[in-house]
Amino acid sequence: MEKNAGVVLVAAGSGARFGRPKALVGLAGRSLLEWSAAAFEGFVDRVVVLRPDELDAFDVPGWKRVPGGARRRDSVAAGLDALDPATTTVLIHDAARPLVTAGVVERVAAALESGAGAVVPGVPVSDTIKRVEGERVIETLERSTLVAVQTPQGFRLDLLRRALARSDADATDEAALVEALGDPVAVVPGDPANLKITREIDLEIARILANRGEKG
Ligand code: C5P
Repeated sequence: MEKNAGVVLVAAGSGARFGRPKALVGLAGRSLLEWSAAAFEGFVDRVVVLRPDELDAFDVPGWKRVPGGARRRDSVAAGLDALDPATTTVLIHDAARPLVTAGVVERVAAALESGAGAVVPGVPVSDTIKRVEGERVIETLERSTLVAVQTPQGFRLDLLRRALARSDADATDEAALVEALGDPVAVVPGDPANLKITREIDLEIARILANRGEKG
């Protein structure tokens, strides 16, 4: 595995849909943040981006702590600023995905090592996805062409910095900023177990997976 990539773990969200900040929520004896961080222990340059009021709650050797911002992109930018100047590639991971597997991390890191400028893990979607406006369906998207995209997402740092500098718009993932530049984004297989804790039901599912030892 490419251990020279930097890691930025973003954990500074407000948990608006969950109803409270999620990073310190418990899952099988550890916080979501601790679960997520454990997947990156092999990397040398590690940064965690925390809510200012939770900065003291995660004090793990090897992790640099920085306060996040109001928007996701602000938190990511704060994390990038704290990376070692010698670091040239980065994996950005949502602390809200505690069950990320070593396999997903390795596939993203390997794609970066092979020269990809931007790489995301994706899983095929099971549901039929429709575009809607209010209560009206506009169209049905062709499911075979769709993937649900996860983290960690991997980037060449110069490319990600250029993507962030291009506009001040926020995005739900960093790959979208690179796409807006017109640069290619590669996709590698994600893992259905790498679910994102967004609502209480996600935590209930994650508890079942964590207690079964499904984390690879
Ligand atoms: O809100 P959402 O679930 O999409 O957030 C995804 C990840 O981004 C979470 O781990 C959250 O803590 C992080 N985030 C952040 N700073 C923000 C917003 C989200 O670090 N301002």
